[in-house]
Amino acid sequence: MTHSRDELLKQLRVRGARLTIQRRLVLDILLDGNDHLSVQDIQAQVTQRGADLTETTVYRILQWLKNLGFVSQTDLGQRGVVYELIGSPRHHHLICLNCGGVIEVGDGLFEELRDHVRRDYDFEPRIDHMAIFGLCQDCGNQNISGE
Ligand SMILES: [Zn+2]
Ligand SMILES: [Zn+2]
Repeated sequence: MTHSRDELLKQLRVRGARLTIQRRLVLDILLDGNDHLSVQDIQAQVTQRGADLTETTVYRILQWLKNLGFVSQTDLGQRGVVYELIGSPRHHHLICLNCGGVIEVGDGLFEELRDHVRRDYDFEPRIDHMAIFGLCQDCGNQNISGE
């Protein structure tokens, strides 16, 4: 997943975003970081970089970026809520409720769904980083209800 720092900052400026030092710091961490950073992960990296932001501040900045459409927020179940810059190509996850196994899937799966939602509901869906919960093959074959 590649993001150009300059391109991202340019897009933010175009939208009239005020880039405070705090916002820049969180953006830098997202740009440098791997996928799937929790608020706590980001806060730890802020501290590593010698700055001091509260969890609430980090969270607010992430919400701001999310509302602008730059960051996805996904609840991965056991792994908690994670954030990442929306890149291309997008990816999504199938997560097993029983064993916690995760299968990564491409974005093609959602193209038709997006078209459908746009066409039938006149609604622009943001399907940026989905987690779909269910049962993997192994667990689906087991009788996990214990009956
Ligand atoms: Zn992911
Ligand atoms: Zn499973």
